[in-house]
Amino acid sequence: MTGGVHESLKQRYQQRIIRLRPLFPNVPDFIFEELLECKRVASFQLRVRVHAGPPQHLQAFIALHCNPYDTGEDPYKGGLQKGVDVTQEKIEGKAMNMTEKVGAFDLQLGGGKAGIILKPGFIYTPQDHAEIDRAFVVEADKMGMIGPRVYSTATDQGTTEFDSDCIAREYINLHEGELGSKRGVATGKSIECGGHPARKNATGRGGLIVLRKFLHTTVRLDSATADPTIVIDGFGNVGRPTFLLAREFGLRPLAVSDINGGIYNAHGLNVEDVLAYYEKHKTFVGYKDADVITTKELLGLPCDILIPAAAENRLTEDNADQVKARCVLELANGPTTTEAEKILTQNGTTIVPDVLANAGGVIVSWRELNNNKEHDRHSVELPREEKDTNAVLESIMEENTARVLVIHAEKKLSFRDSVAHL
Ligand code: NAD
Repeated sequence: MTGGVHESLKQRYQQRIIRLRPLFPNVPDFIFEELLECKRVASFQLRVRVHAGPPQHLQAFIALHCNPYDTGEDPYKGGLQKGVDVTQEKIEGKAMNMTEKVGAFDLQLGGGKAGIILKPGFIYTPQDHAEIDRAFVVEADKMGMIGPRVYSTATDQGTTEFDSDCIAREYINLHEGELGSKRGVATGKSIECGGHPARKNATGRGGLIVLRKFLHTTVRLDSATADPTIVIDGFGNVGRPTFLLAREFGLRPLAVSDINGGIYNAHGLNVEDVLAYYEKHKTFVGYKDADVITTKELLGLPCDILIPAAAENRLTEDNADQVKARCVLELANGPTTTEAEKILTQNGTTIVPDVLANAGGVIVSWRELNNNKEHDRHSVELPREEKDTNAVLESIMEENTARVLVIHAEKKLSFRDSVAHL
């Protein structure tokens, strides 16, 4: 596949399931057949009043892939993505990826995902987003497709804790007076709405814990520097905390970008300065102590570790040959196409796969969900100290990474396929 045409995320995960089949001869066929499609998919329209112009009709999707714990208590889990490029195939593919992730980390959850297609060129205000979230919950609730025991959403591309808060408030509103857990309908909420203090940084922190283990054991860097260099593609829920935490993990960030472009300093970026600048201006444009680069240029910069944390299909057969990093840490979901993976592997680049690298988010979401359940049942909360949860996250991520490394060595599988054996 050339010229920017790739397999869809859904096709990629279906191919993966087919490819993995022979590795599990004792698993019956019907299990693998079940994994090839989502158990339930809803495609529905939202009618939303926005701040300017007529009401908009927005297409929404919820894909529930597979939930071995579907006993009426443990939900399908996966974020809500909003954007102009959302498609049903992408949401189904991401739901499939979630099933593998929650399975690999033994979380008592199923894999799900939701998406809403926004209108290109329209600038949505926070009030518009609140209206979209409200309509999403109302419509999904009518179909029985959302709830803390059915499908619990979270932040993903184009959504933040603001959206998780709006979703939780609307769901609580709709179910006022009913017994049972409600706030767990969404995770990644603000602390005031029942969020977990460790959730915001969890995907980045988890990924850097995994990376540290790979750097200590497997990845041979060209530069023998004490502080390996990184570049980060994407500066949202995942990319920004990764940048913030980089130095805590002994890493030196050289470049960052959002969808409009980025900045690069071969000696290293000043983390506090960049964060403060971006917070104030919501862009890297005009930042003084670095060179301006395009998102395309960022992927080919000389560095030790490249961290795609923006979107799917960022590394393709068209640019994989330009990657100079010795290691790609996949914090986005599906950032590497199948063709790009072949090229990177041939070039000796280690790929730390998304299902392992970015699981920190759903691990802490799971804790948030359990905290919410406990609170709703008994009006008390399980302890939710950030440092305690970070310690739990660290041991879970380290343990699973160590197991993946052993499986990789023993079975001679790629790291991605080794995760399937966890
Ligand atoms: P986000 O919308 O908060 O941030 C995305 C960032 O990438 C933004 O800076 C955006 O400008 C940039 N970007 C988006 N599309 C781009 C493109 N085509 N080219 C270059 N830059 C682009 O999203 P997020 O929540 O940080 O999610 C990023 C990725 O990580 C997604 O693949 C998501 O599924 C995955 N992920 C998210 C979480 C989470 O907790 N939010 C957890 C695990 C995995």
